[in-house]
Parts: sequence; structure tokens; C-alpha cells
Amino acid sequence: LEHKLDAIREKPAVTRDGVKITLLGNIEFPDEAEGVIEKGGEGIGLYRTEFLYLNRPTEPSEEEHYRAYAQTLHLCGDRPVVIRTVDLGADKYTQSKRFAPEPNPFLGLRSIRFCLQNLTMFKTQFRAILRASVLGQVKIMFPLITSIQELMQAKMILHDVMEDLDEEGIAYRRDIEVGIMVETPAAALTGSTLARDSDFFSIGTNDLTQYTLAVDRGNEQVSTLYSPADPAVLRLVRTVIQDAYKAQIDLSVCGEMASEPEYVMVLLGLGVRTLSLSAPLIPEVKQIIRCVTMEDCHLLTRKVLGMNSERQISNYLRNAARKVL
Ligand code: PEP
Ligand code: MG
Repeated sequence: LEHKLDAIREKPAVTRDGVKITLLGNIEFPDEAEGVIEKGGEGIGLYRTEFLYLNRPTEPSEEEHYRAYAQTLHLCGDRPVVIRTVDLGADKYTQSKRFAPEPNPFLGLRSIRFCLQNLTMFKTQFRAILRASVLGQVKIMFPLITSIQELMQAKMILHDVMEDLDEEGIAYRRDIEVGIMVETPAAALTGSTLARDSDFFSIGTNDLTQYTLAVDRGNEQVSTLYSPADPAVLRLVRTVIQDAYKAQIDLSVCGEMASEPEYVMVLLGLGVRTLSLSAPLIPEVKQIIRCVTMEDCHLLTRKVLGMNSERQISNYLRNAARKVL
């Protein structure tokens, strides 16, 4: 199998009946972009920039942000790079004293909420992203959006920073694409509204699963309840995909669901054409894509959407993936 996966590295991610799937990589540090491309990734679908803040006592400067983005873009050439604005809080804290202890951190001041309350920090990141935008194909993505107000507020701050750069005569890509992660049930249920102000959606199935099922994604005591194969999660994912199609905006999936071989067929069957996953898993996911037809995927998806239990669905998906490989 190892040898076979090596051999498909150079081959396109195309189904047996000719449907092209775009495989992108998830990274936490700039140098990982190299591994993504080596494994056959066609760009970066999720750059988790909060890792710039971890394991250090001070916050990164605008120059440090800029250098990280410039390095990533340099490694990616003209391939797309989706920079997610910092997703701190909950499971990812800085060592700085910004965060007060919270009784429910996953429901607390995390992610976009934290950025919207720390505007200096947020603007520093925007300045660096915009300055780097002339070096390649950058897109901006906001995490944990739950409402249109949050999205509008974040975009307004971005535009303020654009005006500052205009005044200073600093170049940037004015037409930079701005999208959101759909990773809360609230966002998934209001996709048609959010799509009007988003250039793209990326479904964050890790948080979407956690919040839909009310299961802490990191708590081993309830880990058997945590599953993207739950009918509730699959229905939300389907809704998001349909809303993105209706609004004609780009859609990808960047949660771990996109990295797990057993979910490839159902995601394709639901209409997903772009997956973003960790580099080592790209060859195996590509291998599955190259072995299936869209008809297989549609049949499987119809079957699975008619099932009522997670157990039934996950067994079915696992068996189907095993048969394919
Ligand atoms: C997700 O929630 O699915 C996601 C991709 O983001 P993170 O894992 O960084 O929360
Ligand atoms: Mg998330």
C-alpha cells in the first residue's frame, strides 16, 4: 500500500468518471507548506495562525506575522493560501495574561469573539495579511462565526485597516477574498444569509460536531459520542453545502472529517469538491477518490441519509471505504 500511495503522488485527484477534486493542506506553521506540496496538495486550505501565539510569553509583532505569511506564500508559489485569523481561547491559550479563567471556555471568549474584543491585536494581523497579499494568492477566513453581525463587524475592521494602508501608501490586494468557517450550528442554519457576505465557506467539522452534539471534542469520557457520522451532523453539513451552491460561493471542508478515508465518499456525494486535510493523509484520500465514481458516492450518500443512527452510518461508511481500497 505504501508503494502504491507513493505512485499516486503525481496523479490528479479525479474520480473514475472524471470529476476533479481539489485537495488542500492544513498547516500550523509556515514550513509545513512544503510537506503539503510534496504530498500532492494544491495549496493551503487552512493555516491555523494562532500557533504564532503559543509557547511564548509575548505576542508576535506585525513583522513576525508578516514573515510567517510571506514564507508560506513563498513556498506555495501561485497556489491559494487560506489564512485563518487567530482562533485563540478554549483549547488554545497564549501565555500572555489576556485570558481570564472561564467556567465554559468552549462557550466563552474564544476565536473571533476574542479578536473582536482585542482590536489592536486583530488589526495587527490584518495589516500583516494585507501586506503579504501582494506576494501570492491569499484569502482571509474567520473562525467560529455565529451571526451576520459578527461577520460584518470583522469585515468592517478589515476595511478600516485597508484605509490605514491606503493612507500610508502601502500596497495590498484590494480584491482579497474573505470567507468564513462554518463550524457552529448557528452558522450552519443561517448559511443563506452568511453566504451573501462571504466569498467562500469552509466547514469546520471538528467544532461543528462538538457544538451540534454537545460533546467536548477533547474529553475522552464522551469520545464515543463524538462523531461526524451522527445524522444530526450530516444533515447540517448537507444544509451548508446546499446553501453554498445556491449562493454560488466556493465551499470546502477543513475539519478532520475531510482527512478520514471513510468520509470521502459521503462528502463527495453531498457535493463537496474541495477538501483540506493534514499533509500525511493526502495520498490515501486521493487514492479513494481515484477508485470511486460519483454514482457510487451518490448512491452511498442517499443510503446514509436515510439511516437514523450513528452506529449504522459509521459501520456502513467504514465497510464501503474498506471495499474501495
Ligand atoms: C474545525 O473546528 O473543524 C477546524 C478545522 O478548526 P480547529 O480544529 O482548528 O478548531
Ligand atoms: Mg474550529
